[in-house]
Amino acid sequence: MRPRTFERGIYLLGRKEATQNKPIEDIPLPPEVVIPLHQHVGAPCDPLVQKGNRVLVGQKIGDTDTFISAPIHASVSGEVKAIEPHPYFMGTEVLSVVVVPDGEQEEVRLEVPDQDKLTPDRVRSIVREAGIVGLSGTVFPTHVKLLPPKERPIDSVIINGCECEPYLTGDYRSMLESTESLIVGLKIILMTVGAKKGYFGIGVDKAEAIKRIEDLTAREQNIEVVPLDTKYPQGSERHLIKAILGREVPRDGVPMDIGVLVQNVATTIAITQAVREGKPLMERVLTVTGPGIKNPKNLRVKIGTVARYLIERCGGFEGEPGKIIFGGVMRGEAQFSLDVPVVKGSQGIVVLPKEMAEISSPRPCIRCGRCVKVCPMSLIPAFIVTYVMEDKIDEANAAGVLECIECGACGLICPAEIPFIQYIRFAKNILLKERKT
Ligand code: SF4
Ligand code: SF4
Repeated sequence: MRPRTFERGIYLLGRKEATQNKPIEDIPLPPEVVIPLHQHVGAPCDPLVQKGNRVLVGQKIGDTDTFISAPIHASVSGEVKAIEPHPYFMGTEVLSVVVVPDGEQEEVRLEVPDQDKLTPDRVRSIVREAGIVGLSGTVFPTHVKLLPPKERPIDSVIINGCECEPYLTGDYRSMLESTESLIVGLKIILMTVGAKKGYFGIGVDKAEAIKRIEDLTAREQNIEVVPLDTKYPQGSERHLIKAILGREVPRDGVPMDIGVLVQNVATTIAITQAVREGKPLMERVLTVTGPGIKNPKNLRVKIGTVARYLIERCGGFEGEPGKIIFGGVMRGEAQFSLDVPVVKGSQGIVVLPKEMAEISSPRPCIRCGRCVKVCPMSLIPAFIVTYVMEDKIDEANAAGVLECIECGACGLICPAEIPFIQYIRFAKNILLKERKT
């Protein structure tokens, strides 16, 4: 049977060979961790500790009363050296708690409930206290996502196992190495939102993960593994839903409008660890990779570990680095400092050597239509970008700029090397500011 997929999109080279067969490694404690107090969509946390305090692994060090937010926990035991603004991967500075590890790794955990008496409310409360957010980079607080309004019931839950960004393999390794936790996590989510059916949507380039999950769920009537084409951006929520269920998320809507909840692999495993083991979210799996890294690896990393330390653990740079990206090459953020810490949403650090990171010289559009053919949102990127260049933001809005999911496919395919994402983000910022005022 042909793997399922969506219309348009683009086939990319996976470039995952360097790490896909490397097990996830634990690394020694870094000399310090820098833990930002705002790593999620929603309100920033207030610090709960002071300079000079000793903190334990898993201790809550930041929180707020605001519903859309998520608490922050210490990832090491040690002394709080400072609470100060620190560079953040988005290019801003964020108030952060700097902790110097004492090497003891003395730990506190959340209270673990009797698993036979779990209720949806109890799960949501644990997930909230554990500080779990969408670990695919969306960083939306998971306890909020697990509370759909009564008028929009969820019937299907999809675990997103596509990892369609080139180079990244952390989710793939997690699917192989934490398979039981992943399946338990799906069952917890199904119970919590009252959905009848769960799906694993996994790219066919991850055949071993498909087989392993199929084997372990063979007797589960309400769980199905769906092999998906390796097209990009198959991991986008709306394209995942279209491929698996054939349903369309409304243009300005969200998956719950059509009865669907999508969770990422790492988030699902974190839910299991919180509910079963009382473990708050204070570390994550990420891939440090790219041709600019000597020895690419999948690492289990304490939140707050800075990029410089992780790159050193992977043998340092291979040649002269040209671009250091947090996230993936298609949707990630270029960095200007190696002192940026890993946060909950960091899926990877990709380093490209200088020769692969040349800044393009845009030329006039030759009307080849390639950007239209690949746009998964059925937009006309050439029109949008022309409107933005001409400062016609209202026209760009009418052409659907706010519907763009910033997948980057148009920019990759364009022979005129037009930097679409820069123009699109510029227009979106203006329009979203106008909406707020
Ligand atoms: S316009 Fe947006 S959604 Fe369409 S291809 Fe370009 S970046 Fe992707
Ligand atoms: S791909 Fe580039 S050159 Fe071709 S139509 Fe789109 S903007 Fe123009």
